[in-house]
Amino acid sequence: MTEPAITVGDPITITDPDSDRYHTFGYISWWQQEVVRNATVLVVGAGALGNEVLKNMALMGVGNLLIADFDTIEDSNLSRSVLFRSQDRGRRKVDAAADAVKALNPDVNVKAWHGDINFEMGLGVFRHVDAVIGCLDNREARLSINRKCWQVNRPWVDGAIQELMGIVRLFWPGQGACYECTLTDLDYQIINLRYSCPLLARQNILQGKVPTTPTSASIVAAFQTQEALKLIHEMEVQPGKAMMINGLTNDVYVTEYPVKKDCMSHVMLDPIVELAEATAVSTTLQDLFAIARDHLGSDDVALEFDGELVLAFTCEACATREPVFQRMARLDESHAACPTCGQRRDMELTHRFDGSEDFLERTLAQMDVAPLSIIRARSGQQSIYYELTGDKAELFDFT
Ligand SMILES: [Zn+2]
Ligand SMILES: [Zn+2]
Repeated sequence: MTEPAITVGDPITITDPDSDRYHTFGYISWWQQEVVRNATVLVVGAGALGNEVLKNMALMGVGNLLIADFDTIEDSNLSRSVLFRSQDRGRRKVDAAADAVKALNPDVNVKAWHGDINFEMGLGVFRHVDAVIGCLDNREARLSINRKCWQVNRPWVDGAIQELMGIVRLFWPGQGACYECTLTDLDYQIINLRYSCPLLARQNILQGKVPTTPTSASIVAAFQTQEALKLIHEMEVQPGKAMMINGLTNDVYVTEYPVKKDCMSHVMLDPIVELAEATAVSTTLQDLFAIARDHLGSDDVALEFDGELVLAFTCEACATREPVFQRMARLDESHAACPTCGQRRDMELTHRFDGSEDFLERTLAQMDVAPLSIIRARSGQQSIYYELTGDKAELFDFT
């Protein structure tokens, strides 16, 4: 093995090792602690990979960490989660992880976000971070992140582990293949199987327990963190390529995915208009129509959500109609059962509004729109995307 080459770059600043925890990073020619300190990274998933990524981020002093997860800690997590302790059992993973990051490095600002990123996290969140790191264990969540990142043109780093195998890959919209480009017919079959009944899907999703070890998690997470660090420093990265790590044979190789021409993920929202005053809880559907009509110079405007909204459940047998106003993705089979007769009720669905609705006074939150969401307005051939930017301050309120 050869010694690492010494690169000649900007003069390096050497600080006092006694008072600066980042002292040794100062010897790395390209390292800019100020850039690292100012970075904002979204880590999705606080399981085995997420723990390791967050630990690394904290040690390096990545300034602002938004940690997203929906799960709570059980004992079986403790064998692969450096940030959790046995007394954390039952706590939300994001809270325990945020506390541990803070204890590891008080310089780091953290924000714990508990929920399902699919329908509870506004797309705008992805827009306002420097990088997204996916620490996930299933295809649905990866696909969801991939589409969101494409929509707002953000890079993301995926990590996958199973037993002693690992994959690390970086995706950047418009540069090489994206995650969905890599999906095979079999992958789609597995995803569709879960979605064949939309209301059942949620109950079954994310139940899979992937067999793996803390060593695989730390190896893959270390590479994920390094890729994110390169992104933060605007260094060269390799989008659309995967690093395949085989811990059984110690083979490591890089492979490049072909770009799929008709890939469904390749959709970028443009233009996105920031509505600085608009928030999910304060802005009504009517308000948004007024803004869009004014903006697009037409009364013929439609607003479109990115997923189906259940307006109501109706039971034919009982002739009842229950207003719901929740995203379909959020509901499961138990919600559809009629409380009177027990039969499965029909759903009234929509994702498109034309301004003639009798519920225009509802706030966007009352229509299950997440804070910092992005909503499409359309008039004829013209489309514009409005971000509820008024929600940003609260979502990015790091402590
Ligand atoms: Zn693609
Ligand atoms: Zn009924």
